[in-house]
Amino acid sequence: MICQSSDSSSSGVSSDSSSSCVSMDSLSPWTRDRDNNGLFFAPNCDDLCFLREVGCNHNHHQVSLNHVGKYVAFPSMWYHHGYFSAKRRKTVIQAQLFAMHTSNPTAQRSTRLGTKMDTFIEGRMDRLDELTKDLAGNWNTTYSKNLFPPAKSFDGGRVNPEKNRHIPSDKYDQVPKLENLVRMFERKFNHLCIDSVWVLQKETCEDGFQGWHRDFALGTKITTTIVINVGSYTAQG
Ligand SMILES: [Zn+2]
Repeated sequence: MICQSSDSSSSGVSSDSSSSCVSMDSLSPWTRDRDNNGLFFAPNCDDLCFLREVGCNHNHHQVSLNHVGKYVAFPSMWYHHGYFSAKRRKTVIQAQLFAMHTSNPTAQRSTRLGTKMDTFIEGRMDRLDELTKDLAGNWNTTYSKNLFPPAKSFDGGRVNPEKNRHIPSDKYDQVPKLENLVRMFERKFNHLCIDSVWVLQKETCEDGFQGWHRDFALGTKITTTIVINVGSYTAQG
């Protein structure tokens, strides 16, 4: 399987001064009635829909990612944006997997999804405990911003380097628990190859990508985006 990253340009090196105080005992399932996390999709919208002052008549779809392990896979060219609200001091870890089609013809033939995905697919992964603990506990070591710097900006918005990490496929071997997640998805969607993983820690409603955008900033070879709720924790204090 060919899986190479074209965008491994880093946003520069900065010192690792911050450290978060998290309680590993407080890892808890996402509570639906108190918190809200998910995405809106606008599959039929184009640039004009968002440039005009008046709204369009296209349908928008909402997909919630409130539960740990819940994911949604969708065409990267679709306009979409995230939404988020949570209890104070609660952080949800979300991963975005940017996938391209594998060049493996056997996988393309055998996939039940076909080679062209034109809808969104929801599902749920289990056994994410180890990855959640790894990300929460080793955010500034194993997953430090020096090792995996995010882009400085995305879709015109500034990216907070404390809360975002971008892991290209050629560095998966440095983060084996995250690589496990990548391989689980590549087995599930065997026509896809995960080119990079963007991990974000969402604490406030501003975290994440809340404006309508498409994932073309990562290159046109990216065909499918998968967003998954990896888990949540509550900081002590
Ligand atoms: Zn529209």
